[in-house]
Amino acid sequence: MEQTLLIYNTLTRKKEAFKPLHAPNVGMYVCGPTVYGDPHLGHARPAITFDILFRYLKHLGYKVRYVRNITDVGHLEHDADEGDDKIEKKARLEQLEPMEIAQHYTNRYHQAMDMLNVLPPSIEPHATGHIIEQEQLVQQILDNGYAYVSNGSVYFDVEKYNKDHKYGILSGRNLEDVINHSRDLAGTDEKHNQVDFALWKKAQPEHIMRWPSPWSDGFPGWHCECTAMGRKYLGDHFDIHGGGMDLIFPHHECEIAQAVASQGDQMVHYWMHNNMITINGQKMGKSLGNFITLEQFFTGDHASLDQAYSPMTIRFFILSAHYRGTVDFSNEALKASEKGLERLINGITDMERIQAGKESDAETHKFVAALRQKCYDAMNDDFMTPLVISYLFEACHVINTLIDHKAAISADDLAELSSTMRLFAFDLLGLKSEKGMNNDAREEAYGKVVDMVLELRAKAKADKDWATSDKIRDELAADGFEIKDTKDGVTWKLNK
Ligand code: ZN
Repeated sequence: MEQTLLIYNTLTRKKEAFKPLHAPNVGMYVCGPTVYGDPHLGHARPAITFDILFRYLKHLGYKVRYVRNITDVGHLEHDADEGDDKIEKKARLEQLEPMEIAQHYTNRYHQAMDMLNVLPPSIEPHATGHIIEQEQLVQQILDNGYAYVSNGSVYFDVEKYNKDHKYGILSGRNLEDVINHSRDLAGTDEKHNQVDFALWKKAQPEHIMRWPSPWSDGFPGWHCECTAMGRKYLGDHFDIHGGGMDLIFPHHECEIAQAVASQGDQMVHYWMHNNMITINGQKMGKSLGNFITLEQFFTGDHASLDQAYSPMTIRFFILSAHYRGTVDFSNEALKASEKGLERLINGITDMERIQAGKESDAETHKFVAALRQKCYDAMNDDFMTPLVISYLFEACHVINTLIDHKAAISADDLAELSSTMRLFAFDLLGLKSEKGMNNDAREEAYGKVVDMVLELRAKAKADKDWATSDKIRDELAADGFEIKDTKDGVTWKLNK
């Protein structure tokens, strides 16, 4: 069924019908992690938000190229131009190659994303693997007159750019606001104006991560990598660029300026941003002592946590809020989320116990017939995952009434209910059951499989299909199963 998807575009500040530039292909770029520390909650939200987008676009039939970068050089949390490179600093402290640090935390990030059931992107380019592309971008901006070289570094000329184009269109700031809010930092004397940002930085003697360039031995400014790699893998114009709201300014604002200054127009059609996560109402930060890594959530090993919370509990919790709304983590909220997830998974598992009848009662049929499109409508309205979850909970309620024989359902309606719930809960929201099979359960399942194979043999015999019945007996015998046909039926045991 054709679905009309509405996406909220941060740039136009309204929901727009999604129309890819080159359907059925969709290009999507999301700012990935900076790899100098263990993955934490701040990493989980954008990864899960854009995983939903990735899954849903693919489900709608688009061929999605999803690029999510690894920032492994040069990035600083609040000011990309000044201070230490965090990867380098750690490398010096721990006497490691910077690339060892980056690789270690990239591996940790991948492990955590895997546990959260976040699908890997189509391409995961590293900033350090694209220095040439970034230098080419810097050169284009210089050639077009929107940058200048100062003491071996290259800076973007924001004032000049603002005269020809408008700086601040994404964040809604004007240049005066930006100037008034800029902090005066060391090294700004190299800049013509304190709002200018670095495109290339000359390396200080102690810098390990450095590359030759026409301007100096140095390294690219943080904003360059996403513009250069987005263009390389998705082209001059592509559909979606996403990230956390904290990246709107300065990172994405600078990306827009770089794109326009180098190619004359914007690269990105839809800008999408997920809101931030707070912990007990506070911003998460190392200095506040409420910084919790994903591993600490999974093990419960943190003073602020009452217990461990499974990866799916975290995922379910994040999806219980709309991606543009705030999420506040607390033990109470996470415990509620754990219960909600269990209720949903149990509902889906319990469906197997429902006996389908000849016909559904009117109310059940009406509910089942409307469920799928209601869930689609919620997803199509800028990914209203909390609404999808509430519909799935309504379905759990219907399932309970069916198990209690307080309602009736036909085989067709039961199949539709099951397929809708599985599609939205598992395939599109990416939830999964985390209950590990214990040995008893494994043994039981194993026995059921052997019984099923023997039933097939009995059917073959009844059909006088001796070839199949003999083949099943011989293959089972070869695997060590002893099959006996008795007057009470078939018995089996495993001789090992
Ligand atoms: Zn980025």
